[in-house]
Amino acid sequence: MQKKNLNWDPERAQVAELAEGVYARCEIDNMGWIDAGGFTVVVDTLEQPASFSEVRREIVRTAGEQPVRYVLNTHTHPDHVALNEDFRREGAEIINGRTAPPPAEGLNVEGDKRAVRLIPMGGCHTNYDCIVWLPGEKVMFVGDLFGWGLIPWMGNLTEDRRTLLLDTYSRLLEYAPETVVPGHGPLCSGDELRRWRDYFLWLIETVKRKLMEGYRPDQINSSVIPPPEDMRDWWRFVEWKHEDSIRKVAKATGRQWR
Ligand SMILES: [Zn+2]
Repeated sequence: MQKKNLNWDPERAQVAELAEGVYARCEIDNMGWIDAGGFTVVVDTLEQPASFSEVRREIVRTAGEQPVRYVLNTHTHPDHVALNEDFRREGAEIINGRTAPPPAEGLNVEGDKRAVRLIPMGGCHTNYDCIVWLPGEKVMFVGDLFGWGLIPWMGNLTEDRRTLLLDTYSRLLEYAPETVVPGHGPLCSGDELRRWRDYFLWLIETVKRKLMEGYRPDQINSSVIPPPEDMRDWWRFVEWKHEDSIRKVAKATGRQWR
């Protein structure tokens, strides 16, 4: 098991040990589990209910036979909750921002070995996003707040949404995470979160400049604003995410945000 999953392969589920007792199962959809000491905490539960027996076996193999006492969901999109019901039937408590919101300051789950925190960070991908933070190990499960270059909000960008996104990224970076588990794609670190924040700011400024030079919003695309060199190898970034971000920012900036 390796920390950064450099041989990450979307076709094959791999379990990585991020710190002693902290695991991520990486595929296109990611999940994790933590040996809290006396019980296990699961973070997100994939999209296919059929994965349950394989996932359950891996949890026992790595974290031991102890019960799964909590399932924490970063949000409740269908590709993050499929196994919730199986774990609930085993006696786990399901906690997420939609069905059992944690308090604003976060919820602490404490075992004999370590604390696991569920912290509300809503409004950037869904209205009830949360992150899972391990203060001792500096591991952060960010769900779909980080999408390897994707603007996490699926609807139109507004000024409020832009401000919230930037504030949320400042909050994420304040924790100084060393290992970041995104909801999808390879593992990364706080460096990639910072890089995306800087990219987003750069894109806004660059789009504004192009509009001032006389481009119409619908004329601005990746041939007008090529993707930054250092992000070309980001997961699916040049294929469509950069184009999608330009389109969203150009549309918002073209109508002066609001
Ligand atoms: Zn999602």
